[in-house]
Amino acid sequence: MSIDANGDVTLQGVSLRSLPKVSLHDHLDGALRPSTILELADSIGLEVPESTPAALGKWFAKQSDSGSLVEYLKTFDLTTAVMQTKEGLARVAREFVQDLAADGVVYGEVRWAPEQHQAGGLTLEQAVEAVQQGIEEGEDAADRDGRSIRVGQLITAMRHTDRAREIAELAVDFRGRGAVGFDIAGPEDGFPPSNHRAAFDYLAENFFPVTVHAGEAAGLASIRSALLDGRALRLGHGVRIAEDLQVVTQEGDEVQVQFGDLARWVRDREIPLELSPSSNLQTGAIAAWGDTSRRSSTTSTISRRSSSTRLRPPSFRSRSGRSSSS
Ligand SMILES: [Zn+2]
Repeated sequence: MSIDANGDVTLQGVSLRSLPKVSLHDHLDGALRPSTILELADSIGLEVPESTPAALGKWFAKQSDSGSLVEYLKTFDLTTAVMQTKEGLARVAREFVQDLAADGVVYGEVRWAPEQHQAGGLTLEQAVEAVQQGIEEGEDAADRDGRSIRVGQLITAMRHTDRAREIAELAVDFRGRGAVGFDIAGPEDGFPPSNHRAAFDYLAENFFPVTVHAGEAAGLASIRSALLDGRALRLGHGVRIAEDLQVVTQEGDEVQVQFGDLARWVRDREIPLELSPSSNLQTGAIAAWGDTSRRSSTTSTISRRSSSTRLRPPSFRSRSGRSSSS
């Protein structure tokens, strides 16, 4: 493996950046260019902890390595502050799509919470429209650069507020106009998906796809609630499903594990896990690469090698509002 001056990783002679990729778990308010934050902050007179893009980038890295999801989420206070206008939202969305395309992503889904972008007086609808405008501008810019990318919105409700039903209706309203799914985000511990059962019922009645953050800061109970209360078709992270697995034997690369009922359900229903190892490290969901210390022993039956588990194509439908969609 080698890394060139532009940060591209080459494996066995193949550039990873050049490979076509799918991005299913990115937060729009976690994907800003530091230079854009500085410019937008300057335009609204907002104080920023650092004054150069490089220093601000390092500040984000330091904050993100705090080891706590709650601390990690505080970095979003700054990014959301510069995303309270149509112009700010559209610019961030446009640049996000362009950056994805430059990384070789051909299909993406980006999640964000419209309810957190109303401090400047925008309605929920105006906020979604602004992001959609930016996404489409980004797609067009990528097309002009010879890259093809399509991106859909995952309309997200905050799990510690009580607006999920309203946000669910917003998401369904924008089906075919940019919205491809629904999510809940924010602090997991103490805010289970069951708190938003009415929203999930509404989404299910409208056959609207759902992914749910679960199994990162909170354990198996949050995954159980995501599946039962949320009818989640994917799990945001879901990494702590490992707590429902137990290694029985290990000989070299051959590993046999016991699956608990929940883990078996996730595997057999082929529910994709939107795994984000670097995020798990930053928020403390895992202590280190390869850490298995949180694994418990509440399992029952022997299964095949975990490495042979198969996943169905995981994305939700791409947007259908434009004739050029693929
Ligand atoms: Zn997330």
